[in-house]
Amino acid sequence: MRYFSTRDVRQEWPVSLDAALSAGLAADGGLYVPDRLPTVTVADFDGLTTLPAVAERLLAPFFAGSSLAPQLGAICREALDLPLPIVPLPPSAEGQSWLLELFHGPTAAFKDFAARFLAACLARLHTRDDPVRSVLVATSGDTGGAVAAAFHRRPGFRVVILYPDGRVSARQAHQLGAFGDNVHALKVDGSFDDCQRIVKSLLGDRHLAARYALTSANSISLGRLLPQMAYYAYAAMRLHRDPGPGTRDPDDAATLPTLIVPTGNLGNALAAVLVREMGLPIGDVHFATNANRTLPDFFAGGQYHGRPSMATLANAMDVGDPSNFERLAWFFRERNLRQSGIHAHSVDDATIRRWIAAGELRHGQVYCPHTACAAEVHQRLRDGGAHGPMLLVATAHPAKFNEVVEPLVGHEVPAPPALAALLERPSHSEPLAAKAEALVARLEQGW
Ligand SMILES: *Cc1c(COP(=O)(O)O)cnc(C)c1O
Repeated sequence: MRYFSTRDVRQEWPVSLDAALSAGLAADGGLYVPDRLPTVTVADFDGLTTLPAVAERLLAPFFAGSSLAPQLGAICREALDLPLPIVPLPPSAEGQSWLLELFHGPTAAFKDFAARFLAACLARLHTRDDPVRSVLVATSGDTGGAVAAAFHRRPGFRVVILYPDGRVSARQAHQLGAFGDNVHALKVDGSFDDCQRIVKSLLGDRHLAARYALTSANSISLGRLLPQMAYYAYAAMRLHRDPGPGTRDPDDAATLPTLIVPTGNLGNALAAVLVREMGLPIGDVHFATNANRTLPDFFAGGQYHGRPSMATLANAMDVGDPSNFERLAWFFRERNLRQSGIHAHSVDDATIRRWIAAGELRHGQVYCPHTACAAEVHQRLRDGGAHGPMLLVATAHPAKFNEVVEPLVGHEVPAPPALAALLERPSHSEPLAAKAEALVARLEQGW
């Protein structure tokens, strides 16, 4: 399989998977995409019942020709062997709904799957003669922790995290600074968009990227998109095999599960769309965004219009110009994106609060602010008469957002053990001005 930049429209500059994984962002500023999307059928997954097994089968065509191909099974087993419960919500007359809980990894957010997969790939591509690679990551809260956990104490790598000072939860900030060793947390005097712009500008500068052996771990990296596809394939297969009460014919398009994905930079939701395009049984995909309306406005018929991000309670989705939109548009370049079974909805902070407060009574769930957006979109769809199975994606454990969640639910939300252990460690981060030059100066200074 060959890979191209989304901006290489005539497909003149193919690169290997290995090169695409190492570089993160393409040299022309575009995002790497495969030359074609392989197709699969449900029969291809016969007998495959674990996430690592499903992942290995799904991703094999993407790894064809890569030096990592013989190790794909080991990579999947090392990185993706995390609990992945699919929890039924209370039964309703319109159809069964489930929660796909993606928050059982070491940092309690879905980004653990992808960060661990990327780290497992990059570690295997690293040779002893290579310089220490600096993994640059801009984070709106959760990416940084997941990437840090995945690369923590890995020889040959250092992680440099940029996060917007004061715009992540206290627990997220603590977590980012708590790893130490080869992980460096920089609190930027600016927004997530500023962090992302700084990282992109350094990675896009060939000279700087080479001088500091930079690589990316943001959701623009192909090494994050691919593993995220794996859990959607796994969920689609689980629901296909066991579609739940009241579902008629599992091959009937009307009974394909509708997916509702909390969405910010569009990495997670794009993975769901691509698994459907590869041929697995997934119905419409709904992006649940917070008050940052770029995607809902586009799907409502407007021009795509990236804008500054707005701070909301669902801070990991505070994105005004989702990077992966360029990839989504590329995959649908010959079709009308607005008529492709993709929808987007905006949920404001007051509604997020209402769902966090109501989640336990109505669904038996304590929702994080991001998952609360999916709960609201689910309710809107059911209220609008939507029938059939629905799968809501739960992107983070609510204990990560205890300052928001606990007052609304009226009790303590205990942190899962891995998160609790990190929160007990001391935490350290350095201030950084919101300028690319400031990061260059910091890199020049060394560690
Ligand atoms: C990152 C994140 C999101 C948004 O995911 P994207 O891939 O950026 O769309 C949603 N919820 C949580 C908890 C996150 O950490």
